[in-house]
Amino acid sequence: MFPKGAYPRLEFCVDNVKTLCMYCHLRWWHKNPIEAYEWFTAKFPERDAALRIMKQNQSPLTEDIIKELIKETEVLIEKENHTRNC
Ligand SMILES: [Zn+2]
Repeated sequence: MFPKGAYPRLEFCVDNVKTLCMYCHLRWWHKNPIEAYEWFTAKFPERDAALRIMKQNQSPLTEDIIKELIKETEVLIEKENHTRNC
């Protein structure tokens, strides 16, 4: 979604990732970024709102924050794996 170069804190944010097939990723998302973003905001309004808030935090990432973000991501992955296996 939002580039990690401009928003380093979003690099470890699962909500900042949208999985697409190769065709949609290369032939639609990157060729029509405005249309793609409009689609995303319409399809995932709460996620978009959360990302907009997170984008505002531009303070640098510290080692402690990165560890915390990794831990949060591991919890989300474990939760997702549990959901899939049930
Ligand atoms: Zn597709």
